[in-house]
Amino acid sequence: MRHPQPVAWAVSRWCADPWSRGAWTGLLVGGTGADRARLAAPVSDRLVLAGEGVHPTRPAMVHGAYESGLTAAGHLLAAGRPGERIVVVGAGVAGLAAARELRRHGRRVRVLEARGRVGGRVHSVDLGGVTADLGAAWLQQYADNSLAALARECGLPVVATDFTDPLTLSADGRVEGATVALDALARTAHALTAAADRPVAEVIAAHAAGLDTASRRTLAYAVEAGVTLESGLDFRLASARGAFSEPGVGEGDRWLPGGLGTVVTHLADGLDVILDRPVTEIRPGSDGVTVTGSWGALHADRVVLAMPLAALADLAVDLPDGHRAALARIGTGRAEKVLLRYPDRFWPVSPGGYLWWGEGTDTWCEWADLTDGLGHPVLALLAAGDAATSLHSPTRTDADIAARAHATVVRMAASFPNLP
Ligand SMILES: Cc1cc2nc3c(=O)[nH]c(=O)nc-3n(C[C@H](O)[C@H](O)[C@H](O)COP(=O)(O)OP(=O)(O)OC[C@H]3O[C@@H](n4cnc5c(N)ncnc54)[C@H](O)[C@@H]3O)c2cc1C
Repeated sequence: MRHPQPVAWAVSRWCADPWSRGAWTGLLVGGTGADRARLAAPVSDRLVLAGEGVHPTRPAMVHGAYESGLTAAGHLLAAGRPGERIVVVGAGVAGLAAARELRRHGRRVRVLEARGRVGGRVHSVDLGGVTADLGAAWLQQYADNSLAALARECGLPVVATDFTDPLTLSADGRVEGATVALDALARTAHALTAAADRPVAEVIAAHAAGLDTASRRTLAYAVEAGVTLESGLDFRLASARGAFSEPGVGEGDRWLPGGLGTVVTHLADGLDVILDRPVTEIRPGSDGVTVTGSWGALHADRVVLAMPLAALADLAVDLPDGHRAALARIGTGRAEKVLLRYPDRFWPVSPGGYLWWGEGTDTWCEWADLTDGLGHPVLALLAAGDAATSLHSPTRTDADIAARAHATVVRMAASFPNLP
């Protein structure tokens, strides 16, 4: 059977991008939420960090970033007074949230953004008249999600995805029991790390050792989509406690057919944001803080650093030992997306719009079928961990990556000619 070619596509490069250096944070062995809380505590009464990585209980998610921006703003509001000049570094959701809150309380706020756009790891792109997200898309923990509340206030439409029972497929048929396998792995992880944290790789190996061949294969599919994609970290370094206890994708998550960028546009509205202003140095002085880049320098009373934790590695900034130690226990995972828009839907349809495709480990393992929400056939394919690194290798062109992703869709559809 001949399958149609994509009419539009987009490819992400989050891992190679110096302004993100990866997808989202996760705990390394020995790391805990207390490390994130440590980073959220002010560096001084003039400098505070914000971003998903420093939210103690909602890391890695866009509403965690939003809340952390509000928290950071709260610290600087408590330390200062109206009329002060505040610089916010980074116009992602955390930076924009902080800037809005500070401006609302009478601060003179300027946001410096390295890229030529706002939004950071929220990036809605045009696929020939249809908008979809190359970065964050879902409002997770929807029932208790502060950004979802904002989206509702703005009257933005949302669409639910059912993550509880994905259509799990491999080249030789449906894979039954993947979510059950994942639950069993999580129980093992809790038992094995009750006394002390261990690397995810050790826990998976110990769990798999007790399984027969068929169960091990099911587990491999479950791990790809259910653990690798949630973490994106090197499993030899990733904390098993963190991987199986920090929150992530949950029931009732929803996405915005107009793109999550609509929320970012709302957050950025009216703010003084200067694009293409990478900051390279933060220097505190007796009367404020100097923020420097190749473009010049700005002096402010106080600063919010709302850049990704991984990007902090390139910044000259003096952080206290406690902050440095906490940073060393938090890693940044790898995940990449390909968006493919087609003239027709020709792949198996999952009732919840959510598929796991087990074609071996070097693949886009998680697929979101956005067709029903967008009214056009669009797939979002996600790869994580080593697969993200190799599939989205900097030596490959975007066109090559999109072509490979398309070939994967065709292989998957060809394996299931009889599924709807
Ligand atoms: C593929 C992918 C899928 C995701 N899916 C979801 C999802 O469905 N739901 C969800 O909740 N979360 C998801 N996330 C995570 C979510 O995108 C992030 O948690 C959130 O957007 C982080 O916001 P932030 O403001 O902390 O950081 P960012 O959005 O990264 O903002 C930081 C800003 O700082 C800027 N910056 C960096 N360095 C400098 C510098 N030196 N000078 C000036 N500016 C600088 C960056 O350009 C950026 O604009 C996903 C992420 C990825 C990559």
